[in-house]
Amino acid sequence: MTADEELRMDETTQDEVIVVGGGMVGAALAALLGEAGISVTVLDARPAPLASDEVGRGLPAPRVSALTPVSQRLLTHLGAWSWMAERRVSPYQGMRVWDGEGSGEIAFEAVDIGLRELGHIVENDIVLAGLETRLAALPSVTQRYGARVSGIAREDETQTLTLDDGSRWTAPLVVAADGARSPLRRLAGIEVREHDTGHVALVTTLRCEQAHGGVARQVFLPDGPLAFLPLRVDEDDHHCSIVWSTRPEHAEKLLALSPEAFAQALGDAMEGRLGKLDVLDKVHHFPLTQRHARDYTAPGLALIGDAAHSIHPLAGQGVNLGFLDAAVLAEEIIHARQRGVALGDARTLARYARRRRGDNAAMLALMDGFRLLFGARHPALRLIRNVGLSSTDKLMPLKRIMIRQAAGERGELPAVCR
Ligand SMILES: Cc1cc2nc3c(=O)[nH]c(=O)nc-3n(C[C@H](O)[C@H](O)[C@H](O)COP(=O)(O)OP(=O)(O)OC[C@H]3O[C@@H](n4cnc5c(N)ncnc54)[C@H](O)[C@@H]3O)c2cc1C
Repeated sequence: MTADEELRMDETTQDEVIVVGGGMVGAALAALLGEAGISVTVLDARPAPLASDEVGRGLPAPRVSALTPVSQRLLTHLGAWSWMAERRVSPYQGMRVWDGEGSGEIAFEAVDIGLRELGHIVENDIVLAGLETRLAALPSVTQRYGARVSGIAREDETQTLTLDDGSRWTAPLVVAADGARSPLRRLAGIEVREHDTGHVALVTTLRCEQAHGGVARQVFLPDGPLAFLPLRVDEDDHHCSIVWSTRPEHAEKLLALSPEAFAQALGDAMEGRLGKLDVLDKVHHFPLTQRHARDYTAPGLALIGDAAHSIHPLAGQGVNLGFLDAAVLAEEIIHARQRGVALGDARTLARYARRRRGDNAAMLALMDGFRLLFGARHPALRLIRNVGLSSTDKLMPLKRIMIRQAAGERGELPAVCR
């Protein structure tokens, strides 16, 4: 051990709440608690915050999220949305979903439920930089970068975290927001139900010959869904971010193609609906594993966001569910504190888990259902899904319910999302 490390072993920093992982979800929770005057430290392994003056310039970053109006309300409440909107957010008013192996198709329009838009496609870096900017302005929030948590121990109602530089951090409540592979979840011994979806997601940015018209498109192909998410770049609506979920063998073949051949394969899969395509970025790939933690809480510990659940991106729900976790947990903590209840109290954490687990589990099951139904090659199932899509398209009341669900308008929403 170096002298520096030995010195850090003696350093112990205390706070009221420690959030491990300052990604989009952890940052949102810290901002909500910070706004209520609760003293929070965010520990993140990344070396530094995002360079906020660089995000949202030039070619869109490859990782984007479809944000629901409910998430938009949370980000607006936090003052992050106006910051993001000044950089780049791309509203979409319509959605088309069809079966690549048949004639079934369904169209959704925001006006059908009296909304201006169904949601926005936003680069993850813009969301995160907006939240980091908000955090920097909150006096009760401390952000620490290059802080990799490598141990957790509990004693006398207090959690002690150890970082890999040897320093120690203590708080009565620790929140794991450290992503799908959550090291903290593993260190705390919380089991996770995990299954490989059999899909890899290919992600890139392209320019389409035809304007997307503010419509998100998704075709269900035999090997998995392909989504075209509309982006608005300098008033131009010809850019899209794509997420192509497919079998690993197929993904490997697609990754070996030249950009021109990849664009051709994409155009064919999309039935040429947006004309000729130009691939503008490298093709990035992500394995898709669904995970659900068996418990969302342990004494003095709560899991939120991808640390609690990671979900197939076919309905663009992952970070939206995470924002709801953050908003509900913050609401429970703030209410408990107003009643003089200690931070980390077991009943407060249990209420959070009760309010969020069912919604997340239902969404995970729905994504599995979609994936299996649209991956099925049996002629009877193909007929059912095509007839199902086309008949649902004609049933406006049912469509309205589906749009509201996808927009996040379900169950009892936390006040900051209403
Ligand atoms: C291809 C693809 C497309 C997607 N599209 C959508 C979409 O359209 N809409 C949507 O809602 N969701 C979408 N998602 C899901 C979404 O990206 C995730 O749900 C979201 O990023 C999770 O955020 P998070 O803050 O929980 O975790 P993360 O973003 O993973 O953040 C975790 C943070 O923890 C930090 N960390 C990790 N380990 C440690 C440690 N030991 N110590 C300290 N810090 C640590 C990391 O540095 C990181 O900053 C998509 C996902 C994929 C793969």
